[in-house]
Amino acid sequence: MKRIAIEKLIRPDLIGMMAYSSARDEYSGNASVYLDANENPYNNGVNRYPDPLQLKLKERISEIKNVSKEQLFLGNGSDECIDLLFRLFCISGKDQVTAINPSYGMYSVSARINQIKLNESKLNIDFSLNTEQIIKDAEGSKLLFICSPNNPTGNSFPKEQLIEILTRFDGIVVIDEAYIDFADDESMLTELLNFSNLVVCQTFSKAYGMAGIRLGMLFASPEIISWMNKIKPPYNINQLTQTFAFDKLVNLNQVQNEIESIKKERSFLLKELARIQCVEKVYPSDSNFILIKVKNTIDSYNYLKNNGIVVRNRSSQLLCENCLRLTIGTPEENLLLLKTLKEMKYE
Ligand SMILES: *Cc1c(COP(=O)(O)O)cnc(C)c1O
Repeated sequence: MKRIAIEKLIRPDLIGMMAYSSARDEYSGNASVYLDANENPYNNGVNRYPDPLQLKLKERISEIKNVSKEQLFLGNGSDECIDLLFRLFCISGKDQVTAINPSYGMYSVSARINQIKLNESKLNIDFSLNTEQIIKDAEGSKLLFICSPNNPTGNSFPKEQLIEILTRFDGIVVIDEAYIDFADDESMLTELLNFSNLVVCQTFSKAYGMAGIRLGMLFASPEIISWMNKIKPPYNINQLTQTFAFDKLVNLNQVQNEIESIKKERSFLLKELARIQCVEKVYPSDSNFILIKVKNTIDSYNYLKNNGIVVRNRSSQLLCENCLRLTIGTPEENLLLLKTLKEMKYE
């Protein structure tokens, strides 16, 4: 078991801070008359402030994920979780973090906004992880971001490599598992009790089909979670989101069916895309998208767009020259994509 002193990693100026104490923090029982929060007393479903700690929703999520409520933090999307990690651990203008490259764009945006230097650790040409290199690149960093399965490359990294990094790196390792439900590998959540420097991010935006409600999950040691709760905006998860997410989690069959269908469509698309003339390379995928290399990204992108299909041009990212990222759609949408690509003419 790896134990690191979290208090040595967080911003020293935060030590001893008192969190904002809201009316709902001070009283969370069941009263018949609430005159404590200056709310409008007339019930319309949302006239009351939401539970600042989202306990009912967290109880359900922790059952599903098999972790304790004290290991779970909810954010306004993973994006808020990422931003709060910067604010908790990093001193502006002084501290550094490291992220793999190519990867999700928010790590560098959030670093920039928080005035933190971001070191980029280049993946191997086949998008695999170079353990020695990343440990070297991350030396002196407060946070190390590893997205697995990775966006935009689609692959996930072997658990042994992630364990090795967790063992040898003495900062916080953030494993972004936004796409974990589409992967065959198991989540790193099972390692939470073994590594106090592990943070795992997941989201309701992909497999759960609720990008619109903005709900991100962050799993870590109870110590890190209680710090996250201290620095978060008091009511960061609104009532509509809490209710909507809870209702969705009552019956997970629909979510499971959608994941299965997307994975089936992924196998189909991987096979079919490889047979299309304008597609030079199809990368393997553990996610709900597929990265392909084409002859000319701009022409292909525009051609698809002119036919009503919008994909993501990832050409500007490291190691992704001439690559398009295709999200897996419904069976009908995927057939249309294939048909359109097959009909593409190019010089
Ligand atoms: C889509 C995505 C997320 C989700 O972010 P939200 O703010 O929860 O919608 C997080 N990480 C990665 C790598 C993603 O691709």
